[in-house]
Amino acid sequence: MIDVTLESVSKRFARGGDTAAVDDVDITIAAGEFFTLLGPSGCGKTTTLRMVAGFYFPTSGRIRFGDEDVTRRPPNKRDTGMVFQNYALFPHLSVAQNVGYGLKIRKVGRADARRRIDEALGEVHLSGYGDRRIDELSGGQQQRVALARALVIRPRTLLLDEPLSNLDAKLREETRTEIRRIQQESGTTAIYVTHDQAEAMAMSDRIAVMQSGRVQQIGAPREIYHRPATSFVARFIGRSNVLELPVVTAAGQTVTVRLPDGGEVAVGAPADHGLGTGDTALVSVRPEHITLTSTTEPGALPGRITELEFTGMATNLVVDVAGTPVQVAAVEVPAGAGVGDQVGLRLNRDRMWVVRP
Ligand code: ADP
Ligand code: MG
Repeated sequence: MIDVTLESVSKRFARGGDTAAVDDVDITIAAGEFFTLLGPSGCGKTTTLRMVAGFYFPTSGRIRFGDEDVTRRPPNKRDTGMVFQNYALFPHLSVAQNVGYGLKIRKVGRADARRRIDEALGEVHLSGYGDRRIDELSGGQQQRVALARALVIRPRTLLLDEPLSNLDAKLREETRTEIRRIQQESGTTAIYVTHDQAEAMAMSDRIAVMQSGRVQQIGAPREIYHRPATSFVARFIGRSNVLELPVVTAAGQTVTVRLPDGGEVAVGAPADHGLGTGDTALVSVRPEHITLTSTTEPGALPGRITELEFTGMATNLVVDVAGTPVQVAAVEVPAGAGVGDQVGLRLNRDRMWVVRP
């Protein structure tokens, strides 16, 4: 296990026009950390991971493993284990031959290889599967073979690019728990790529949220969820309302804003918010941090239900507040409530947070 540093890393492709696929990215990943690159399709996750693996060299910037500069070192000299979305297993080889492939290339002796293959298969809970053919295995088992093949070389870093995308929903959840367990047991530094925010939150020590080649925010899952840096992060991680509210006063990390009904509320803000009286603040508040109440409750924001959808765990509503649609996820909804009804909204002010545009 080793720490990984990306310093001002950019990548421009020859056929990529003027825009950088990865644009001035700074990331420091601690030894043994499970670190995730999260963002929508095309934001530069795979390109970033491939630069760490050595399949692409950066156009500018540096990549370090510990103190070693690996920026222009070929992939086979980096001690990285890689797991891909499509597994990339050899269909004509047995499970043991697939897992042992990296050992053969490294000229590890037969007896030692045998032992390490068994060990790796044990780690992924596939002991006894060595002689099976790849096409006799389920998708989930194939992905675990791919994981064993990456781990058997005892890599300094484990790199995983959307490894669960080809699995169905239930298996995806089981396998993500497995990957996390295996990573913790092996203590390997892991860099994981996904566009699935729930997956990222469930697995990661820290997450870098990317958009258009740039890192928008780096933080622990709870920090990113409760204190999103930008309106993009607020909307991409879970769902969020980003309300435009006039600033009454700003003092340190507290910004007092005016709600549509004239009421004032003090909300938390990042240190560098730069807001003052008269400015418009963007305030994020998540649907589950709003409760539905009656119009007569003091301090409740009056609105009218325009959409209502029962999903089992929660009822998703859209409530029009003075022309602004506000999403609400309510566990409890008054019996008989429906579209067109007047309601009151109570915002959990401890969960409201000022974001940058
Ligand atoms: P992600 O993995 O987040 O979906 P990628 O890293 O694959 O995103 O792609 C980032 C951007 O770089 C996209 O606009 C994509 O079209 C472009 N890109 C990726 N690989 C190449 C390539 N080999 N040549 C040209 N453009 C590329
Ligand atoms: Mg990708």
